[in-house]
Amino acid sequence: MTGASEQPSIVDTHTHLDDAAFDADRESVIEASRVAGIRHFVNIGYAPDRWETSRALRDQHPDIDIALGLHPQLAAQFDTDLIRELERAIEDLAPVAVGEIGFDFSRNASSFEEQERAFRGQLAIAAATGLPTVIHQRGASDALITELENWPNLAPIVLHSFDGTQRLADWAREHGCFVGIGGLATRRSSERLRELLARVPVNHLLLETDSPYLAPPGSANRRNTPASLPAIAAILGPLWNLSGEELCRLTSRNAAGLFRFSPLNRAA
Ligand SMILES: [Zn+2]
Repeated sequence: MTGASEQPSIVDTHTHLDDAAFDADRESVIEASRVAGIRHFVNIGYAPDRWETSRALRDQHPDIDIALGLHPQLAAQFDTDLIRELERAIEDLAPVAVGEIGFDFSRNASSFEEQERAFRGQLAIAAATGLPTVIHQRGASDALITELENWPNLAPIVLHSFDGTQRLADWAREHGCFVGIGGLATRRSSERLRELLARVPVNHLLLETDSPYLAPPGSANRRNTPASLPAIAAILGPLWNLSGEELCRLTSRNAAGLFRFSPLNRAA
């Protein structure tokens, strides 16, 4: 069914709605996103204080679920206390995924050794819980493949806001990874990225904004919100010979199957 008047059904699989960028108008941003067709949000809590703010947001909104982890840029904070705290948070707060975790070699916020230790500690939690893993990767495609090869029994992996090499794209396809697409791929300079993404099978695509980051070009505001997804989907859909609405519908189905949201499952 592709009625032109049909409201798109969209899942934003990677948002930071608890970010301070939304402190002044968070509720109206969420409401405007619903009006734009966003049916479900995954809010990514990437640091201990964000686990709590993510939980608070989730508890207020039946269409928000959460993922919990420690971002690779914060890997220097990782120690045995933090891992225990994360294990407890995952047990108590019922996230739909572990993340965002991974490798980020684009900044020097933490050393490779620190990032490797934090990533491994959290992959062990993902493996033990059976939750999907949301991966953040920048400038680290080969190191990511090397590490993930050690973890063959993880639940599905999401490569969030994919920005990797041909080799990583091929590896992801062979290993059935989900690939997050959003504003980054719409940039004029992202021609090569779009070529890689076009070969990702449609049933492994997820839409995401990474709000408040990664505003698509031409946005009135540098602050991104989930309401930008219909426009992003309209730009990217043709890579798979899909309309924006079709891309929204198919990626929503992928997200619901992967993350098992209860409200969405009820509606489906
Ligand atoms: Zn993020």
